[in-house]
Parts: sequence; C-alpha cells; structure tokens
Amino acid sequence: MLSITNLIYLIIAIVAYVILRLLKGARREPIRPPGAVEELEFLSKCIRCGKCLEICLYNAIELAAGDKSVSVGTPFIVPRNAPCYLCMRCIEVCPTGALQKKTNGSEDGQGSC
Ligand code: SF4
Ligand code: SF4
Repeated sequence: MLSITNLIYLIIAIVAYVILRLLKGARREPIRPPGAVEELEFLSKCIRCGKCLEICLYNAIELAAGDKSVSVGTPFIVPRNAPCYLCMRCIEVCPTGALQKKTNGSEDGQGSC
C-alpha cells in the first residue's frame, strides 16, 4: 500500500514525465536556415537544390538524409554542430523563396538559429 508521501511523489513523477514528453514532441520541427518560411510552405517551396548549403562558408547547413525525421534533402541546422553566423548568403541564393529576407515586424523566429 502506498503512503500519501509516496503517492505524491508518484504523481509528481508522472506529471514531470508527461511534461517532458510534450516538450520533446513540440521540438520536432527542424531548425531551418535563416529566412525560412513557415514549415509546411517551406516543404512545398524547397526544391532540395543544396545551393544554400554550398554557399554557407561556415558549413552550418546540412541536408537531411532521411535519418533524422527531417524531410529528405531539405536543409537544416544543428547549432551545436556548426552554428549559423547570420551572414544571410543562403537567402540570396535560394531560387524558390523557401528562404526569404524578413522585413521588420514579420520576424517570428522561424528559421533563425
Ligand atoms: S546565414 Fe550564413 S552562416 Fe547562416 S546558414 Fe545561411 S549562409 Fe550559413
Ligand atoms: S537553396 Fe532554397 S530551395 Fe535550395 S535547398 Fe536551400 S532552401 Fe531549398
């Protein structure tokens, strides 16, 4: 039979587990290069050409190989591997508008790193 104290600890552990699972699930979207449009639009606009990767002097961009739950061939950034220095070169070469210059007031953090 559980004591009240143990029951409280158990409830706290369950709540913490659920919160951690929710936080982990919420962070599933990859970090796109700067200027990336909203994720669904990005997936429809990005033609997986790799031009953003080629122009990046800091090797900050990787193309998904299909093993990281990121759509195959699309660019993403893992800051702890290679951080982005916000030079914005990748935006200049993107041929489709998947990466776009943001104007003041429209920056929502999407694609920033
Ligand atoms: S902004 Fe510059 S450093 Fe950052 S991903 Fe694009 S090209 Fe690389
Ligand atoms: S340059 Fe644009 S279209 Fe090409 S891979 Fe990068 S984001 Fe996609």
